[in-house]
Amino acid sequence: MNTCTAVALLPPPRHVIALSVPGHRPEAGHVLCELGENHDADHAAMLWDEGGRPGSAVWARWSEERAELASLPWCPARDAREEACGLFAGHPPGHSWEITDPIDEAITRGLGLV
Ligand SMILES: [Zn+2]
Ligand SMILES: [Zn+2]
Repeated sequence: MNTCTAVALLPPPRHVIALSVPGHRPEAGHVLCELGENHDADHAAMLWDEGGRPGSAVWARWSEERAELASLPWCPARDAREEACGLFAGHPPGHSWEITDPIDEAITRGLGLV
């Protein structure tokens, strides 16, 4: 399945604003949903990971009405090569290895890596 194409605009975190030069507010950044297309529930994108421990990754989750940040444990599933799923526990169907980003694919093919 392909990736969901939802995009969210998030305001910069407060600590980034605190570090920025006065008068130059950082602009909102956009994040892309990492789930498989046509998923149910909220869109989700990982913002940062503080070392691979359970609950160390911070995710943005959003829907039409709201957005929230949450620390979520990793999905415990592994593929046939023992690669860990790159999504959070309890994500909608489609582990990370079942989801292909058509843009990534096109770039990889264009570079002759496949
Ligand atoms: Zn989505
Ligand atoms: Zn998974």
